[in-house]
Amino acid sequence: MSRGLSFATLLDGLEKHHGRPPALPVTTALGLVLWENVAYLTSDKKRAQAFAMLKERVGTSPESILAASREDLFAVAELGGMPPERRVSTLITIAETVMEEFDGNLEACLELPLSSAKRALKKFPGIGDPGAEKILLFTETRPILALESNGLRVLLRFGFGEEQKDYAASYRSVRAAIEGQLPDDCRKLIRAHQLLRLHGKELCKNTRPACEACPVRARCRFASH
Ligand code: SF4
Repeated sequence: MSRGLSFATLLDGLEKHHGRPPALPVTTALGLVLWENVAYLTSDKKRAQAFAMLKERVGTSPESILAASREDLFAVAELGGMPPERRVSTLITIAETVMEEFDGNLEACLELPLSSAKRALKKFPGIGDPGAEKILLFTETRPILALESNGLRVLLRFGFGEEQKDYAASYRSVRAAIEGQLPDDCRKLIRAHQLLRLHGKELCKNTRPACEACPVRARCRFASH
C-alpha cells in the first residue's frame, strides 16, 4: 500500500513540479502505431521530429507509406535513431498489415470488444498489452490506465502494488492496487500516463532516482527505506 497519499494527490504533486506534459500529435490508432515505431531509443523530441517528417514527406496513410520511395522512408527512419534500415521495413510491414488484415482501416478495430481490440492492435510491431492499452486510451476509446515502464516503476516505488518476478505480474499488481482510485475519464487518465512517464524519465530513473529533488518523497515507500 502507498503511505496514505491518494493517486489523485500524487498526480497533482507531480504536475506541480513537472508542469502539464504536452499532448501527443497523434490521436488515431494507426497514428499511434506509427508513433511507437517511427523511432527507437531516442528522445521525445527526435521521435516528434521523425513523425513530423513522416507526415510531411510520406504521409501517414497505409497507401502513402506503400507508395513512398525507399529514400524518403530512410530519411524518416534515420531521424528516429538506429537502426534505420530495420525501421523502414517496419513502417512498410505496418502499412501492409493495415491493408491486408484491416481492409485499409485500422480505426474500425477500436469498435471491437476490449480483448479483440487488444488482440488486433498486438499484430503490430512493438505493441504488446501495455501498448495496445495505450492506443485504446489515447484514442479516447477506453478509460484504461495504460502504463509504460517509467510509470510502472514510479507507482511501484511509491507504494502502489508490489514488484513481482515478471513485468506482466508487476503491472497487474499496480493496476489492482489503484483500481478503486481511477477516474472513468480518458483525458484524466492520459494526463496520469504522461505525468508518471515524465517523472520516471526525469527524476524517478531506473538507476539512481533523484529522490532529493522529488516533490512526493515525503510519502514515498522507496525513499523511506
Ligand atoms: S522519492 Fe524517489 S523513488 Fe520515490 S517517487 Fe520520488 S524519485 Fe521516485
